[in-house]
Amino acid sequence: MDEDFLSDLRRRLLYEGLCEVGFSRIDETVPPDLARYHYAVTLMYRMSDAVVDEIDNSPTYAYFQHYRAANALLDRCALITCEMLRREGAAAYPIAASQSVHDRGDKYTGIYQHKSAAVAAGLGWIGKSALFVSPKHGPRVRLATVLTDAELPCETVPMESRCGSCTLCVKACPSGAILGKNYVRGMERSEIFDAEKCSRHMKQAFGHIGRGAVCGLCMRACPWGASLNH
Ligand code: SF4
Ligand code: SF4
Repeated sequence: MDEDFLSDLRRRLLYEGLCEVGFSRIDETVPPDLARYHYAVTLMYRMSDAVVDEIDNSPTYAYFQHYRAANALLDRCALITCEMLRREGAAAYPIAASQSVHDRGDKYTGIYQHKSAAVAAGLGWIGKSALFVSPKHGPRVRLATVLTDAELPCETVPMESRCGSCTLCVKACPSGAILGKNYVRGMERSEIFDAEKCSRHMKQAFGHIGRGAVCGLCMRACPWGASLNH
């Protein structure tokens, strides 16, 4: 895909409200039924600090609404990306910002892990919380992905964890889901994070706010990205 097209795509997505756009080759992480797609466009939206900073011992109603609005924007940007790629003759497959599927063994995961492509694009790392962490925005981001067969420029090097000895998210988590290990590439998520414990706690403790879909305490606790606007 030529540089002019990629510049146009990036400009359009940033205009729509995204904070970063990344390109990566994803062969190691794509499931067999999507293996025709060798490349990914990562779409990143930075959440509002005003909303995230209100999270204390519980998510807020504003945060749940903001989470859903961010997902809707990302899904719209994924459609724009697909259409722009299609007009260039490329196949493109949008992965929704937030959609769990229940037919792939792990009922707490999606068709494709956004953070795999985001890390491959050099945009950040996977934190002890199992959240994607950007060096600029921390985990205060939402992601979507467009898989494509168009060849994209991928000269970036995946980032290793910068969590170091920090345990702030581990201490902030009320469910014990975060096991406290640094993520190393190739690990299964279950080695650092108990998705079942997290989901159960969100449903039990916060079902009245976000139907059990949000919590945000580990995101709020992370020092990365927390001071950008302060
Ligand atoms: S979302 Fe809440 S329950 Fe789940 S890991 Fe983070 S802090 Fe723990
Ligand atoms: S709070 Fe600390 S350990 Fe958790 S993801 Fe952020 S930097 Fe890593």
